[in-house]
Amino acid sequence: MEIITTIDNIRSKVKEWKLQGLSVGFVPTMGYLHEGHISLVNESNKQCDKTIASIFVNPSQFGPNEDFEAYPRDFDRDCSLLEANGCDIVFYPEKNEIYPENFATYINIISDMPKQLCGKSRPIHFQGVCTVVAKLFNIVTPDKAFFGEKDAQQLAIIKKMVADLNIDVKVVPCPIIREEDGLAKSSRNTYLNKEERIAALILSKSIFLGKSLVEKGERNADIILSAMIEMINSEPMAKIDYVDAVDGLTMLKVKNITGTTLFAMAVNIGKTRLIDNFVVEAK
Ligand code: AMP
Repeated sequence: MEIITTIDNIRSKVKEWKLQGLSVGFVPTMGYLHEGHISLVNESNKQCDKTIASIFVNPSQFGPNEDFEAYPRDFDRDCSLLEANGCDIVFYPEKNEIYPENFATYINIISDMPKQLCGKSRPIHFQGVCTVVAKLFNIVTPDKAFFGEKDAQQLAIIKKMVADLNIDVKVVPCPIIREEDGLAKSSRNTYLNKEERIAALILSKSIFLGKSLVEKGERNADIILSAMIEMINSEPMAKIDYVDAVDGLTMLKVKNITGTTLFAMAVNIGKTRLIDNFVVEAK
């Protein structure tokens, strides 16, 4: 596996591959990798001839009081994991390579989409995500890009950006990977101490409760949300940021499950903000 740090070098490598007729899959990450990330690499390997993963903790998607500095990093371990899982190149740019001095162009989706769910408490988050992902797409020019459904709002927003800006990449959604006990895998799980790790199970438990109500035929989103919220509030260490049911495309709140509905939550366990979700496709 090759480690590439500059835009010029990654561009010439991809050009070489494309001249050989090889397809390129891309997995953007912020590193501190786990099986969730690796599932995206595996899917890319299945669908494409070559796989590039990027590791870049993107400063522009963190608010002033968020965990940019503290975000966990372990580049050597990440490289071992990527290499062992058949990744061909890791793109590992420095901050200045992506945001040189006087950088001034940002991508914003002008709709309610990025203002809902996580956007309420993280107002600049999706502007940062769209900007870095658009830049990475322009740099890597992949045929396909693989994103986790764990970050459902991010996935919907990136699909919208790709469609609106006619970016020539196919966005491939990949399912949420969980720990054996149900907790969605996340680089931020490492922040949790022993008690918090146990308390964090309340997220997936309430996800499974919501899903089971839907499976029993409940279509009233408020009834499902109330049951989920009651369960989360039964855990003293959990503090809800939001638990909402929204339209899968617009991210606007829904009262009843009629089309594709996303049930999504962000919950603070101690100082750690965790997210989880499930999607219902109405028949
Ligand atoms: P991150 O490093 O957190 O920015 O995540 C990089 C990519 O991995 C994103 O597309 C995430 O949605 C995806 N991802 C993170 N955690 C999981 C998970 N538990 N299951 C599936 N995909 C995930």
